[in-house]
Amino acid sequence: MRARSGLEHVEPTIFERGAPGRTGVQVPCGEAGPARIPASLLRKQPPLLPEVSELEAVRHFTRLSRLNYGVDLGLYPLGSCTMKYNPKVCEDAAAMPGFTNLHPMLPDGMVQGALEVMFELEHDLCELSGMSGMTLLPAAGAHGELTGMKVIRAALEARGDGRRKVLIPDTAHGTNPATSTLNGFQVVPIKSSEKGTLDPAVVAAAMTDEVAAIMITNPNTLGLFETNLFEVSQIVHAKGGFVYGDGANFNAIIGKYRPACLGLDVIQFNLHKTFSTPHGGGGPGSGPVGVVRSLMPFLPVPRVSKDEAGVFSLREDFSQSIGRVRTFQGQFLVMVRALMYIRALGAEGCRRVSERAVLNANYVRVRLQDRFHLPYPGPCMHEVVFSEKFHKKAGVETMDIAKRLMDYGYHPPTVYFPLVVHGAIMIEPTETEDKAALDEFVETMEKILDEVAASPDALHQAPRLTSISRPDEVMAARNPVLTWKPGV
Ligand SMILES: *Cc1c(COP(=O)(O)O)cnc(C)c1O
Repeated sequence: MRARSGLEHVEPTIFERGAPGRTGVQVPCGEAGPARIPASLLRKQPPLLPEVSELEAVRHFTRLSRLNYGVDLGLYPLGSCTMKYNPKVCEDAAAMPGFTNLHPMLPDGMVQGALEVMFELEHDLCELSGMSGMTLLPAAGAHGELTGMKVIRAALEARGDGRRKVLIPDTAHGTNPATSTLNGFQVVPIKSSEKGTLDPAVVAAAMTDEVAAIMITNPNTLGLFETNLFEVSQIVHAKGGFVYGDGANFNAIIGKYRPACLGLDVIQFNLHKTFSTPHGGGGPGSGPVGVVRSLMPFLPVPRVSKDEAGVFSLREDFSQSIGRVRTFQGQFLVMVRALMYIRALGAEGCRRVSERAVLNANYVRVRLQDRFHLPYPGPCMHEVVFSEKFHKKAGVETMDIAKRLMDYGYHPPTVYFPLVVHGAIMIEPTETEDKAALDEFVETMEKILDEVAASPDALHQAPRLTSISRPDEVMAARNPVLTWKPGV
């Protein structure tokens, strides 16, 4: 058993260490020190802070860092999130002083290189998606959705069309209905078929001239390719609606098919999932949005353009634009990583990314499908979703299995999502894991199922080897205690 942190009990915090009067550094306070602060502003009591030596402070933070888990430590099969290894060469590119020292208000003439990076990335993303225009401004996937749906709304308004309904399949990501609602649309849920994909007849029945758009996640959150996408697009277009594609799962299709060719009008990318930006913990993201030609006038500003002499500039003179969606030019360094990633891989490498991502998920599927219930049989795309059916019978919840995986040194997969699968376990191994790593993971899952059969009760106690076992997750998310207060 690989204990992840080596901590079998809760370590004392830095606040419980040290002793009064102990200190890490001696800073001489000469005449320029505290005396310059007026006496009335000086605190009367010294602050209640831990008094520790330098070594104790260093050990405290080093210990904390070892409580963390990341892709650079091990497999992180968090379905839907695409937690894959990000090549360090992309980090090197983003750390170049020519990029990091830029100020967003420098005149165009001084930032031609940066504008070229943006221009080229827009071009590459258009190439991959088949779209005609692109904005790099949105700060994340959900923000990209918001921007894309604003563009659709503006296009409807420009033609004097007040339709306000948006069709959303039950396999969509939760951000899709939220985006629609935030944009003033009403959500109409669409049931997917037994196969877990969209049924054109169901879409046709719901498609009226009150429907502004359909929002489709493809591959959907069951990890399945929407095989009827082209037909669905035709049905929606015939009634004057738009087809929005949630492209957060682009990792499964990069270089394989162009969404615009199957009738999508708008798509957002998640650069922080597919194109090499480490994420998790709320780090920077980027959610570029691509649109077909007819929607280009509505894209947000500023837009990067290149004149005949090859000079780049940021332009705001687009009268039908939805305006600004983000301060300055967006998350520039995420764009640098994405361009580096695409250019380092090349067209062939991009295709191999999705081939490997899909192959790896199917390898896990085939090896585990006899022991975990597979509600939608057959090949999947980049992630595989099992249900609780088998282990629930043995008295074990999906959560117990997820928690037990932590004892074996793994980040758990996504659980209880998508909602259409009871007690879902959603595994996304990504293309960056090799066969040995996948075998080790599968064997661990099998070992846990053996434990389920032997003593299901023991699993309710998992994890036992982490510093914290089962916190109240709702409380932890709603009322996080992020600072230490003396005496609490
Ligand atoms: C992650 C994800 C989103 C949201 O992206 P954020 O960058 O987290 O806002 C939307 N749709 C799908 C399918 C996703 O996987």
